[in-house]
Amino acid sequence: MARYTGPLCRLCRREGTKLFLKGDRCFTDKCSFERRKYPPGEHGMKRSKLSDYGLQLREKQKVKRIYGVLERQFKRYFEEAQRKKGVTGEALLQFLEQRLDNIVYRLGFGVNRRQARQLVNHGHIMVNGRVVDIPSYRVRPGDVIEVRPESRKIPFIEENLSKVEHRGIPEWLELDAENFRGKLLKVPERHEIPVDVQEHLIVELYSK
Ligand code: SF4
Repeated sequence: MARYTGPLCRLCRREGTKLFLKGDRCFTDKCSFERRKYPPGEHGMKRSKLSDYGLQLREKQKVKRIYGVLERQFKRYFEEAQRKKGVTGEALLQFLEQRLDNIVYRLGFGVNRRQARQLVNHGHIMVNGRVVDIPSYRVRPGDVIEVRPESRKIPFIEENLSKVEHRGIPEWLELDAENFRGKLLKVPERHEIPVDVQEHLIVELYSK
């Protein structure tokens, strides 16, 4: 399946919640979802009751869209989460949160996950002193993530960092904005992962 390249705000309206796909705009009253809280399209205003299957499917789509992950990769995360001890839904979100592109976004180097993924793809990010250009790379507790010294002059990174306080950084991350550096302190627990999803619906969907 190809990556979605259409209007991002449309996805939030489709999922019925803010997915924070754009960056600064998501935190202002210019947010399209704030203005039009109904699905896009001609029949968007009409309410339609979703079946249990429909609800489960929508929840899966929502999570895939938040993290920018395609179906095959998402399924792999799920299967790995199933093999892990503990709550499958929580493990699934933990794996997604530990992706390098997500950490680069959460630390505020990228204004959204899409931009963060580009920073990683283009070799601007180092993990423990080495360039890592794989967005799905799994960051482990104790890993140090930083912008490569040669890339620190990129104007938008500095600008993003100056605004990151507004968005807030999760407690399981440490940021040294002056040195363009951050650290994963621990794997977050479910209540520390700020995404509005009902992951148990995804578990139900895949368990059929
Ligand atoms: Fe979604 Fe609003 Fe951000 Fe658009 S501006 S991506 S509708 S949260």
